[in-house]
Amino acid sequence: MQQFDVLVIGAGAAGLMCAAQAGQGGLNVALLDHSEKLAEKIRISGGGRCNFTNINVSEVNFISENPRFARSALSRYSSADFIALVKRHNIPFHEKHKGQLFCDRKSDDIIDMLAAECNAGKVKWFRPHSVNAVEHDGSQFKLTTTAGPLQARHLVVATGGLPVPKIGATDFGLKLAKQFGHALVDQRPALVPLTFDSAQWEPFVQLAGLALPVLSRGSEAQAPWFDEDLLFTHRGLSGPAVLQASTYWNPGRAITLNLSGRDCEPATLQTDLLQATLGAKANADNWFAAQVPHWPKRLVQAWLNKPELQAIAGRKVAELGKKQLGPLAQAVASWQLVPSGTEGYKKAEVMRGGVSTADLHAKTLESRKVAGLYFIGEVVDVTGWLGGYNFQWAWASGYTAAHAILSQ
Ligand code: FAD
Repeated sequence: MQQFDVLVIGAGAAGLMCAAQAGQGGLNVALLDHSEKLAEKIRISGGGRCNFTNINVSEVNFISENPRFARSALSRYSSADFIALVKRHNIPFHEKHKGQLFCDRKSDDIIDMLAAECNAGKVKWFRPHSVNAVEHDGSQFKLTTTAGPLQARHLVVATGGLPVPKIGATDFGLKLAKQFGHALVDQRPALVPLTFDSAQWEPFVQLAGLALPVLSRGSEAQAPWFDEDLLFTHRGLSGPAVLQASTYWNPGRAITLNLSGRDCEPATLQTDLLQATLGAKANADNWFAAQVPHWPKRLVQAWLNKPELQAIAGRKVAELGKKQLGPLAQAVASWQLVPSGTEGYKKAEVMRGGVSTADLHAKTLESRKVAGLYFIGEVVDVTGWLGGYNFQWAWASGYTAAHAILSQ
């Protein structure tokens, strides 16, 4: 039986940060992961350049049954702290937009940095190894692993969420939480493309590949508006606008897209469209295209073919009144669509739900059920927006758990 102070399961974003901090604080740390390759999710993140944090982070950028849960860890270890670490390792980076920070070179820079931090803390690696059983005898966690039995007083679960099973995602952390009496919040794919029934989507299939800026909103009451790009796909909608909305979407409900290019209600748009008909001589199709100059031509065409707008197509502008412009304004400024589903965990960037925060201490990430047991990163019911927030939660929760253990 090998004895450690801390056992960390999962060498992804949160686990690497936690192990490095605990090790550098002088604890004897073991870090175990079943994957051949280290931190594949970091590697594929941000299109290979890892959007490793965001300059502006607060609990507002996260969803959880307890919206305030993340606050403590996020203030304990801020994005400024992670940026300072990245700078200490001389990793070049840039801001893309909206405070999102990306590596100039590759995500490997972040993985190498975290591995070096672990090595500086003399972390003992167990990779690739899996855990067959976990027991707790009241003071020690005993793990049966493919590397033999391992034992420690503190066990940190950092096995992440369910997205992208082909690179090592499992429900290990969720099962372990259940084993120790923790409640789970229902899980579902988030930051994920949305799909539609083929009949419903048929008029838009030809638009696959087309992108434009929109305002988007999920179906939940607390869903915020996102100002991002929308992407049409063969099966539905994607792009940052829809990924963001998907996190706040419930099956059977509608998402809303404002394609007008302005932050306005349909009624305001209708008034403005009415105004714009005055003195206009063009036919309605050309006139409409001029009202949405940011739309590609193909979209204008597909739009005027929508059943509720066919009354407009081919008419003279002078013939358009409230009866025609009302539905047009509604369709442009508040397009309501009911997706049939999502592209699932294969394509999702994160998991919504997970280990309930009700059973965890916000200041330490320690279990309220079993002393010495910690859950960090995506396995916890804390889901960030697109834009570097999920990594910041991983870094912050990993750091917080490590320092909670160090302070004991
Ligand atoms: P992970 O990083 O997933 O690490 C979990 C680790 O646990 C893995 O190494 C896994 O092998 C291991 N593990 C799992 N099960 C077991 C088991 N049974 N036994 C042993 N080990 C196990 N977030 C951002 O903030 N910015 C981005 O740019 C970004 N881009 C993304 C792009 C994609 C395509 C995806 C899928 C996600 C992206 N994310 C991004 C989300 C981000 O990657 C995750 O939220 C983050 O990695 C979660 O960190 P974690 O440590 O909790 O889990």
